[in-house]
Amino acid sequence: MDPFIPQFAPWFDGSEALELSNYMKSDGYLTEFRLTQQFEQMLCDYTSSRHAVMTNSGTTALMTMLYACSIGPGDEVIVPNYTMIATPNAVRAVGATPVLVDINLDSLSLDLEKTREAVTPRTKAIFLVLANGREPSPGINAFVELCEELGLLLLEDAAQALGSFYKDGRAMGTVGAAGMISFSVPKIITTGQGGCILTSDDALASRARGAKDFGRERGGVDIHREFGLNFKFTDLQAAVGVAQMRKLEERVSLKRDIFSIYREHLSGIPEVYFFEQDLELTTPWFIDIAVPDRQKLVDHLVGAKIGTRPMYPPVSRQPIYNQRGKFSNSIWVGAHGLWLPSSSQLSSSEVSRVTSAIKDFYSQDSKVTAPRFTRPD
Ligand SMILES: *Cc1c(COP(=O)(O)O)cnc(C)c1O
Repeated sequence: MDPFIPQFAPWFDGSEALELSNYMKSDGYLTEFRLTQQFEQMLCDYTSSRHAVMTNSGTTALMTMLYACSIGPGDEVIVPNYTMIATPNAVRAVGATPVLVDINLDSLSLDLEKTREAVTPRTKAIFLVLANGREPSPGINAFVELCEELGLLLLEDAAQALGSFYKDGRAMGTVGAAGMISFSVPKIITTGQGGCILTSDDALASRARGAKDFGRERGGVDIHREFGLNFKFTDLQAAVGVAQMRKLEERVSLKRDIFSIYREHLSGIPEVYFFEQDLELTTPWFIDIAVPDRQKLVDHLVGAKIGTRPMYPPVSRQPIYNQRGKFSNSIWVGAHGLWLPSSSQLSSSEVSRVTSAIKDFYSQDSKVTAPRFTRPD
């Protein structure tokens, strides 16, 4: 019998175990120190960022960067209505108000014109989410210019975008005032949990370093002129991160290969819609498609022992936000978007098993499925 293909599974080889075991044989303190600094340096080198500040999760990286940008009560931050819940929740956690704006379907990122319309005198920042490593349409510079024109900070949630670059060659997460990456288990590389703030602003980096260490003046000195909490990383996790960083290029190229095999195998099925993805410069984190009859396809794939996951529901429809508004594109993605098996280690025969099962579904079921959908404007 064929084994179950999960939507995602982590992937390690002996190198993480070796790093961890070497570290445990040294007289380290486990908390963040030299290995964390080495991991931060590797991230700086890879992204050409001046600073990389590790935190204990992507969510606390988001909170810490907002705090370091002095965003708080009374401020509004524009957030796309299609994102992981951590983006709007981090804005709320620092006391500011997330203002939800619809996305466009070319990039699954903030719609530029709707973003402009949502700006008020209270708006402090625009939080771009680089969905699946895609460059926001019509290009990052349009958002840079909008922020310059209106005097706003540009922030980048690059949680899913390590290994993705803008058309001008800059790494995602390094163009705005600050950006962040997540190292939770499903992300491009993982440290179990973990996050990183990228910035080229020395003062902002130093505020972020203080804020994640109780607002200490410096390590080991208990003088607090600034507010802070404990969002520090550990060298134990950095051991895994350093080993994973060495395999980043390989993982990125596997992700791109897997995406292109899926796209090629499924290109003849009109019901399966692929969002545009530039496989030269960007790295698909998950394989994302849209289909008219998602639940039926999901059930069929479960029968074929294949796992999937619906893409994020619109933030506006989450019970804790529950907002009305014109969010037709994010609502459409929430209803039709589906993540297919996306582990970096998927073999081409596993990908073929998935695409054959999808083809079977659409050949047997085509007469009873919903009529082909039309994309909203
Ligand atoms: C994963 C993710 C986060 C949160 O990161 P954690 O490390 O899980 O806290 C934030 N934003 C986006 C877009 C993500 O995909």
